[in-house]
Amino acid sequence: MKFCSSCGANIRIEVPAGDNRPRHVCNSCEEVHYSNPKIIAGCLPVFEDKVLLCKRAIEPRIGYWTLPAGFMENNESTEQAASRETLEEANARVSSLQLYSLTSMTHISHVQMIYLAQLDDLDFFPGEESLEVELFTEANIPWEDIAFQSITNALRCYFEDRQNQQFPLRHFEINTPSKRPLNKASA
Ligand code: ZN
Repeated sequence: MKFCSSCGANIRIEVPAGDNRPRHVCNSCEEVHYSNPKIIAGCLPVFEDKVLLCKRAIEPRIGYWTLPAGFMENNESTEQAASRETLEEANARVSSLQLYSLTSMTHISHVQMIYLAQLDDLDFFPGEESLEVELFTEANIPWEDIAFQSITNALRCYFEDRQNQQFPLRHFEINTPSKRPLNKASA
């Protein structure tokens, strides 16, 4: 951040009175601009013994498979965000959302919330951010080509929990960047 988003003046970095860490502060209007974590919401859509994955058409990790998920918009609930992302990325409708995987990604200040969900029908097709959308059985999951560690974690837990049909909320913390190449072409 270089300029104040309220008045356009230059900003400085300082610890405001009563605070305990450096913030962006406007030199003119003195507004303090806080930077806080972003929330990513998504679904793990299930249909019979299969789960729905999307092959990414966008950076990072073009060509890798992931669950439909993305940044929350203002004025929506996390469930709405997860459903909306599933509709946008896979043109897929889901129901019975249940919070399942919660991941703090401390190195990038993101929090990811993945909901277990029922896929309502098979009329899905790739949205703009996906190259392909497919259903996978556990045996067919492309484990080597999953885009993000958080998604691998959620999928592994799901197949484990499915054996006894208990799906408790799973917590994870990821604090280092993945070593996986940024896109499939350079792999
Ligand atoms: Zn200002």
